[in-house]
Amino acid sequence: MLSGRRSTGFAAALILLGAASASPALDRGADGKFDRRESAHFVLLQDVDIDDTGGFHGSRRFEHGLLQVLEGAYESLESHLGLSPPRKIRVVVYDPVVFDETFSGLFRFSAAGFYADVIRIRGATLIHEGLVRVLHHELVHAALHVAKPSLAVPAWLNEGLAEWFEARTLGKRHLSPAERSQLERAARQGALFEYDQLATRSFGYLASQSAQLAYLQSYALIEYLVRRHGERKLSDLVDALIRTGDPNLSLQRVYRANLHTLQGRLFDELQT
Ligand SMILES: [Zn+2]
Repeated sequence: MLSGRRSTGFAAALILLGAASASPALDRGADGKFDRRESAHFVLLQDVDIDDTGGFHGSRRFEHGLLQVLEGAYESLESHLGLSPPRKIRVVVYDPVVFDETFSGLFRFSAAGFYADVIRIRGATLIHEGLVRVLHHELVHAALHVAKPSLAVPAWLNEGLAEWFEARTLGKRHLSPAERSQLERAARQGALFEYDQLATRSFGYLASQSAQLAYLQSYALIEYLVRRHGERKLSDLVDALIRTGDPNLSLQRVYRANLHTLQGRLFDELQT
């Protein structure tokens, strides 16, 4: 999702992106041409100019690798979150120069971001581990959006699910010792966010240190729910969210508790 660290550029890009919904102008490569390719669950558009900069074979290998990673992540999405979006997810691979000019500083990650219905990726020739992580993370945002475009997911839940899924698919199931001590320290100092404060649409308004804690708390609450109630219940939560469109009602139905109660249980744990 957008991080919004550079407000001037952020506003300019929003105008640009807003204009794009009425015209296909944004989805242009450096010279306005994109190659289209489809896999079972994705439509991938790639700036044809990447062929010149990355070399035909390097570029095709990258594109092929991306779709393999995304299809693998899609399967995990079904098994870990019970999510199977009803239509294909759009992915655009940009010439790196175009990507940096358009999105630099706007996304939390420098390699990719999800915005305006599309997973947007900085063109490269190699699929490195960092990109694999980002693709898993952004896929959760994209899948929730595609599953129910009208859904307003509170940031703690949207980011918590994305962070948890990203970690889970790489084999990390729990808070690391360092993450736990950071949270325990923040709890002792009374510096934790109330989860109500994290129910905005994004964490874009937060300075980077606060944002880091906000993302960690988001992950921590999902990790707590899974540890106490199992992964199956998390899929039930996602299902309820998509069916009802109401995060609070969904929490109540699945965990028999509201956000305030769940927060209290997590904070108690961090303070013992
Ligand atoms: Zn995110």
